Amino acid sequence: MEIQAGEKKEGQEFTVASISELSSSSSSSADSALVSGSPRVLARFGLDSGVAELRFGGESEQDKWIVFDLRTSQLFRLSPVQLLCVSEASETNKETCSRGVTIQFTKEKESSAFYCAFEHWRKQGVAQGAHLQNGALQTSNSKFDDKIEASSAKMYFHYYGQLLHQQNMLQDYVRTGTYYAAVIENRSDFNGRVVVDVGAGSGILSLFAAQAGAKHVYAVEASEMAEYARKLIAGNPLYAERITVIKGKVEDVELPEKADILISEPMGTLLVNERMLESYVIARDRFLGPNGKMFPTVGRIHMAPFTDEYLYLEIANKAVFWQQENYFGVNLRSLHGSAFQGYFSQPVVEAFDPRSLVAPAISHVINFASIKEEDLYEIDIPLKFVSSVSTRIHGLACWFDVLFNGSTVQRWLTTAPGAPTTHWYQLRCVLSQPLYVMPGQEITGRLHLVAHKAQSYTIYLTLSAQVGDMLQSSTGKLDLKEPYYRMSQPQTYSSSQDQPNQLLQTQDAQMQSRDDDDAILMQQLSPNSNADLQSL
Ligand code: SAH
Repeated sequence: MEIQAGEKKEGQEFTVASISELSSSSSSSADSALVSGSPRVLARFGLDSGVAELRFGGESEQDKWIVFDLRTSQLFRLSPVQLLCVSEASETNKETCSRGVTIQFTKEKESSAFYCAFEHWRKQGVAQGAHLQNGALQTSNSKFDDKIEASSAKMYFHYYGQLLHQQNMLQDYVRTGTYYAAVIENRSDFNGRVVVDVGAGSGILSLFAAQAGAKHVYAVEASEMAEYARKLIAGNPLYAERITVIKGKVEDVELPEKADILISEPMGTLLVNERMLESYVIARDRFLGPNGKMFPTVGRIHMAPFTDEYLYLEIANKAVFWQQENYFGVNLRSLHGSAFQGYFSQPVVEAFDPRSLVAPAISHVINFASIKEEDLYEIDIPLKFVSSVSTRIHGLACWFDVLFNGSTVQRWLTTAPGAPTTHWYQLRCVLSQPLYVMPGQEITGRLHLVAHKAQSYTIYLTLSAQVGDMLQSSTGKLDLKEPYYRMSQPQTYSSSQDQPNQLLQTQDAQMQSRDDDDAILMQQLSPNSNADLQSL
């Protein structure tokens, strides 16, 4: 995405303990009042018309900000927790003499992170300035902003900035309990290590890492949730010393040291929704040191054809409204086709009965440790199944799992049908044209996922089956961003899932080869073993 010169782009924000302005004949009294009067001081790096600047100010909109032009500013270390920022008289503002502020931090790590960010933004400003002098349009220098629509990002980070949505994830005890177990069981991967929490949200995973003995955790969070994370972490003084929250996108922020291990929960519906896996991979390339680990390490998308007459009819019937020829004297029929397509373009999200699957599942592996970011822009999966029954196939069912490849225990977090339900549920792509199959019959096709700028994917699905001389083929185009949440009741968890610690004893997943795992999964999906899974 290109942004016009003059547009302001988002930056990186720090909360500092206090600042005091060095006395200067030219410093305005308003600035001094702000510094002494504000209960909390924010320091924000950003670009304004291609000029990198650092602003100090209070939380209120009315507060006047002290602005430093980074082209003419320098930063000095006065002590491990105190920095001095000095600015020369700028070319554009001749009457401003040199000025300075001392910046006080509570932790040395915060001071180092700030120092690092200062250098980063100063360099950005120089690069932007050179670019603009050539008369070219200013391009955004954030990898995130280049590929994601600003309106989508705004809504996305607004959503995650609210505690209620973080609570929803925290209350998914299968999810959070599995992360907790994976971290605590693999203490040796965290003890004494530098950790980066990619998209920290409430900061819960940073706190888990600190519980496992991390030397230091950098919790990077782009939404306003970063402030709540700071509060939550401060409320846990046993760990707070070893965690630094950095507000900004992992694509933009600078960290003072390399990490030994990344921890993150970047999974969306169908694993890839929200396009946060790309941020996870970018964080790997920017922050992870050689031989560093990633928690999770690997993700897999599992797929199998399903039959569900009732679901199919429900979707097809939604468009019947548009078949009316006399709706207050108006013929609606001309829009029936579009409405019908519209309903089938919504992937259905809910927990379904695994007995509706008609063939063993296949899987597509994404190795977070080695995949290139660009490889996530388009994911093309050839499909081949053998039907085990005579039935009508109504589409493709999908779910995912991720592996924590710990040095001590390898643990899977699964969202499979029949396994304890998570807030991701499962996803089904329903085709407007069902296929008839016989036992032993081959079903082929393709699942083609193409990333779009609204942080999601367009899904192109084709399924085909040969009947005698005739090839039946059915295609669908769906938008992963527009799911149909079908469950009428919120799913509740059994009391055994309420205690994360109990998961430590009950969930015991081993790393399996792909083929073995598919076989085991199909065993799990058989009606007989279902009861066992449910009681986990
Ligand atoms: N780690 C938390 C939150 C997971 S939700 C937990 O497990 O409970 C994902 C979080 O990542 C959201 O809070 C979102 O705002 C943040 N996020 C997504 N993309 C990001 C990016 N590019 N940079 C920084 N944070 C990001």
